Amino acid sequence: KQLRKAVIAGNWKMNKTRSEAVTLIKEIIPLAKDADCDIIVCVPFTNLETAVEAVKGTNIKVGAQNVHFEEAGAFTGEISASMLKEIGAEYVIIGHSERRQYFGETDETVNKRTKAALAAGLIPIVCVGELLWERETGITEEVVSRQIKLDLNGISSEDCKKLIIAYEPVWAIGTGKTATNEQADEACALIRGRLASLYGKDVADAVTIQYGGSMNAQNATELVAKENVDGGLIGGASLKAADFGVIIKAA
Ligand code: PEP
Repeated sequence: KQLRKAVIAGNWKMNKTRSEAVTLIKEIIPLAKDADCDIIVCVPFTNLETAVEAVKGTNIKVGAQNVHFEEAGAFTGEISASMLKEIGAEYVIIGHSERRQYFGETDETVNKRTKAALAAGLIPIVCVGELLWERETGITEEVVSRQIKLDLNGISSEDCKKLIIAYEPVWAIGTGKTATNEQADEACALIRGRLASLYGKDVADAVTIQYGGSMNAQNATELVAKENVDGGLIGGASLKAADFGVIIKAA
């Protein structure tokens, strides 16, 4: 764990207009100033340019929430990795459970998007995690292992080291139902174990593995203290500067 710096990333989802985004970022900046962790805000596409401008000279980085896998062409409504890179985004969330659930995202498209992001020099935040019935029937390990294998298929060791993986049990996202500290730690350890068997221990030890799912100002300290949890991907609580600030301090 000492090898890895915690990363606290806010996933704003489809929230905040451009002017609201500026207000929120201005509130976060002073709360983030002396942080020991890396801090990212993943904003809607329409706010990227504004957010990049607003965080200039601070320790906050900007990410997008999705990216298309093709470089350019007839893909109406899509955004390419080079577009994100040029606008100043440094990170991109890929395979969030809401995209898997509502927008037909599959492990195959997650894999293609991850490769496209890496090729453009973006850092992917690849989301994995089991559904409620999968946890209840005891197949969490199998599900998450399969996601890791398929999502990272064909990605080199060198590229793997750059990744952030977010373990987000789907039953904990936006539900107020957080995984216990032990469940989060166990699943992050499981992911690191899978990475070790695919890429070797040195690569696995270099990868940032976050927990996500109703992390908030109250539960963040204990979650991020866990050996295998390298920070968090935070939805709801990242929209309130004070709460996000507490989580940053906890990491
Ligand atoms: C998320 O969107 O990645 C997330 C974890 O949401 P929430 O914190 O609201 O559960």
